[in-house]
Amino acid sequence: MTDNRHVKVLILGAGPAGLSAALYAARAELAPVVLTGMQLGGQAALTHLVENYPGFPEGVGGAQLGELFQKQAEHFGAKIEFDMAHAVDFSQRPYKVTTDSGNYHADTVIIATGASPVHLEVPGEVELTGRGVSYCATCDGWFFKDKKVAIVGGGDSAFEEALFITRYASSVTLIHRRDEFRAGAILQKRAKAHPKMNFITNTVISNIVGTDKLTTLKLRNMLTNEESDFETDGLFIFIGHTPNTDIFKGQLEMNDLGYLKVNDKMETSVPGVFASGEAADQHFKQVVTSAGMGAAAAIQATRYLESLEEETAHS
Ligand code: NAP
Repeated sequence: MTDNRHVKVLILGAGPAGLSAALYAARAELAPVVLTGMQLGGQAALTHLVENYPGFPEGVGGAQLGELFQKQAEHFGAKIEFDMAHAVDFSQRPYKVTTDSGNYHADTVIIATGASPVHLEVPGEVELTGRGVSYCATCDGWFFKDKKVAIVGGGDSAFEEALFITRYASSVTLIHRRDEFRAGAILQKRAKAHPKMNFITNTVISNIVGTDKLTTLKLRNMLTNEESDFETDGLFIFIGHTPNTDIFKGQLEMNDLGYLKVNDKMETSVPGVFASGEAADQHFKQVVTSAGMGAAAAIQATRYLESLEEETAHS
């Protein structure tokens, strides 16, 4: 375990926000260190195709985009460490961040820890995860070649991933608790026109059933309370995300849903600690907005370090 690592800028998370912050901090010659956490490239790296990141008119693979972000940040001197932060102490500077490998002491911290998929929290979900139940179409879609797949959710993720799975599955049924969808118009139009896609609306999944592997979903109609069985080989759950901010509880201000509070300069409630991307964004959650927030956080961290230097020079 190492305790003597001092850095000017420590970035927690290596998705679009973290890697964009790294690019800007590296170009400001601050030698930033990025801790990847669980997923280099963030959630975007698990998306098969990103079609709305400017500069890629044909779209770009999520994993490929993550690699490009990483390469560009490293090119200017950012250091990427496969390490996970478990605790922080923001009570005094330099701020202490405890990771798998020991402690970092940082003059500024940029939080870009992103978000994780929300679970349905119905019986059978935990037991059958990896046995038919999945949260990642890019990772697991291939296993459902010529099989029957259900998707739960009515947002962009559910529609986008459902369309992706039509490449493999014989049929894809999207189950949604209302009869209106949150997904954007283009995705809805594409999905509704797809010959492999079916829709079950006003319906929730009350139970996920199977012994070794998923076989059946117990469904309940929200309008009639009628119950029915739906046989399927796979269930992909895309019902939203929750911010990865548990380790900041009691240290930084956050809202009721756990999103970190930031002002328009990406400053959190502690001077010198900035937040960007989905950990601090309840509303937009796009690759481009996360990247923008990361860049803004790094610019402000640079200004903050400059002001500290000026203070020291005048004292
Ligand atoms: P989302 O927009 O929050 O949608 C979540 C969906 O899951 C909603 O339809 C919701 O139903 C449903 N849901 C939530 N809890 C549920 C439960 N317990 N049981 C059943 N259904 C439940 O989440 P998302 O699709 O992951 O998207 C998150 C953000 O990322 C959004 O801002 C989205 O625009 C963005 N995103 C964008 C793209 C893109 O631009 N290509 C791709 C992916 C994600 P209700 O509608 O009834 O609340």
